[in-house]
Amino acid sequence: MTILDVKSFAHGEWVAPGKGARNIENAITGALFARAGNDNLDVTAMLEYARQIGGPNLRKLTFHDRARMLKALALHLSQYKQALYDLSFATGATLTDHKIDIDGGIGTMFVFASKGRREMPDSQIYLDGDVEQLSRDGTFLGHHVYTPMQGAAIHINAFNFPVWGMLEKLAPTLLAGVPAIVKPATATCYVTELAVKIMLDSGLLPKGSLQLVSGGISNMLDQLTCQDAVGFTGSAQTAFKLRSSSHILKNSVQFVAEQDSLNASILGADAVPGTPEFDIFIKEAHREITSKAGQKCTAIRRIIAPDSHIEAVIDALSKRLSKTTIGDPQLDDVRMGPLVSNNQKRDVLEKVSILAEEAELVYGDPNKFDAIGVDTQKGAFVSPMLFHCQYPDTAERVHDTEAFGPVSTIMGYRNLDHAIELANRGAGSLVASVVTHDTQIAREVVMSAGAFHGRLYFNNRDSVKESTGHGSPLPHMVHGGPGRAGGGEELGGIRGVLHYMQRSAIQGSPEILTAIGEQWVPGSIELTESTHPFTRTFHELKIGETIYTEPREVTIDNIEHFAQFTGDNFYAHMNEKAAKRNPFFPGRVAHGYLLLSFAAGLFVEPSEGPVLANTGLDKLRFLKPIEPGESIKVRLTVKRKTPRNDEYGEVRWHVSLFNAGDELAAEYELLTMNTYGCE
Ligand code: NAP
Repeated sequence: MTILDVKSFAHGEWVAPGKGARNIENAITGALFARAGNDNLDVTAMLEYARQIGGPNLRKLTFHDRARMLKALALHLSQYKQALYDLSFATGATLTDHKIDIDGGIGTMFVFASKGRREMPDSQIYLDGDVEQLSRDGTFLGHHVYTPMQGAAIHINAFNFPVWGMLEKLAPTLLAGVPAIVKPATATCYVTELAVKIMLDSGLLPKGSLQLVSGGISNMLDQLTCQDAVGFTGSAQTAFKLRSSSHILKNSVQFVAEQDSLNASILGADAVPGTPEFDIFIKEAHREITSKAGQKCTAIRRIIAPDSHIEAVIDALSKRLSKTTIGDPQLDDVRMGPLVSNNQKRDVLEKVSILAEEAELVYGDPNKFDAIGVDTQKGAFVSPMLFHCQYPDTAERVHDTEAFGPVSTIMGYRNLDHAIELANRGAGSLVASVVTHDTQIAREVVMSAGAFHGRLYFNNRDSVKESTGHGSPLPHMVHGGPGRAGGGEELGGIRGVLHYMQRSAIQGSPEILTAIGEQWVPGSIELTESTHPFTRTFHELKIGETIYTEPREVTIDNIEHFAQFTGDNFYAHMNEKAAKRNPFFPGRVAHGYLLLSFAAGLFVEPSEGPVLANTGLDKLRFLKPIEPGESIKVRLTVKRKTPRNDEYGEVRWHVSLFNAGDELAAEYELLTMNTYGCE
């Protein structure tokens, strides 16, 4: 059997293993499988390459360019799934496990690609929140903006997800415009190497935007500056060691840690045996114990159930676990493969003996179990193990010992407060789940346990069909948790991108803010063109282009006609005395929707042209009522332009309605889709 040489990709070149290379075993056979690492890797040159070449190349692109690149990369990787699956078996993972890692990673990239296009501007600066009025006359305003960090993102990943672990960090990093240096855990780095090679060979990545360290990372972390960021995933022990280095602390290097946690799952008191919720609970617990052989940071380590149902939970879970086939993960009927290495097996068994000090083993035997098609003495196989802790209040180690394998501890609770107290004893977790059909239990858990858990996952008969699983971090939702879980946060849609950008408060005149944000700010210059803006294509329209309409009187007949026509006979429009009794109105006033319709009638250019559709209104506010006999006029300004697809883009218009005295009566943002025309 040839030994794989796992290379690094450093400053534009592939570097083979050399002095100091580490051996990697095949999880199924325990045999030497690959080697990785080279003490002579020039990590200084790698950082320079990222900072000097990768960063500038990425920063030239807009968020939309980068999002398109992510989509293309995800599509490209999708074509190589089988090759990645084939290689991944050596890590001990089954085909189902591969799908979590490989398909899950690619799916995460697709989500960031789509969110980048839909939720970020086609620009290099990301605006945060609204403009802040800092002065009385509006000539000095404030806004918050995000710009990409100008260094490198160092991603140090755990062994359990060689592809997802890389892509879930890489997607938001590249979208932010920051180059990445990925350092996977050595035990499974050969899978990451293949995924990196596929991405680099695609030619889709700008030069310098992705590098790979297989094996040790040398003293790279001692060379980081405030413009670099470390995203770490792994054990609490390693995280502590790395983040507490004096260089990292002295230079305030951003260090985000996702580490192990003692995640809990609570069975609601309503979910008695025989209910759909009881079955859901058992199914989820079983899945979390066995998938990836329990090597998931989000796996359920503590199963918290009402005292009265402990026996039933142990019975039902043991029954399911006894049906879990263990063995060669390449075989179709095998449900659980080995741990990643014999080292990992030793670590798990050590932790199991610690748990045994406070809990009784009620299912599984680490030394005796059936396995299909393998030699369990050679590969890193263990059986699933279930402990029962009878005295969880006085126990310590069941709440702080993570056996990173198919191991979980059941403990009983007296009432909901007690269940929450036990869940919170993990001192900060990535996820806690509650299986209940009782909405009050769910609310109580959020109020009393929310602060201790990065994610709270509720499941019951209503959601089970479409629920995504206790252990699955989703790109839309934040992943991370306080305290023991590392205090970090990843994913969560665009929130994950902003971790690689610096937020700055910008203060200045409306014109300065308009130029920086590429978005018109009231008070800034209003541009006048000779033709109506509705006759001008997306590319012809300029930010700040403005028209003022003629005034139009709103008569009592208009109000009555509108009321009759729409059926909206609300008393403020129809009954003078009742309207007068209302603190908001001087007497009868025009319907707000009548004003919006008149506004459209005033500014719309009716001929067929580049405006395809009105797709919505945002931030609508009625500020001053309009009485019968008053007139209104409208100011319409191009606020922002965002390409949407190959045919058309979205134009966001700032619309202001004034009364005859130039007082603001209503304000909103109008959205239209416009054809592009020639650039
Ligand atoms: P680990 O031993 O802590 O290693 C994590 C990463 O740190 C690996 O890439 C490792 O590289 C690297 N590393 C170790 N020492 C280093 C050093 N001195 N300088 C630079 N890098 C160093 O964890 P693991 O065994 O790979 O993963 C299992 C643990 O990760 C479990 O505790 C699990 O709960 C946790 N985990 C957490 C999450 C999460 O999202 N919160 C996800 C997955 C796993 P080498 O392999 O080359 O040593």
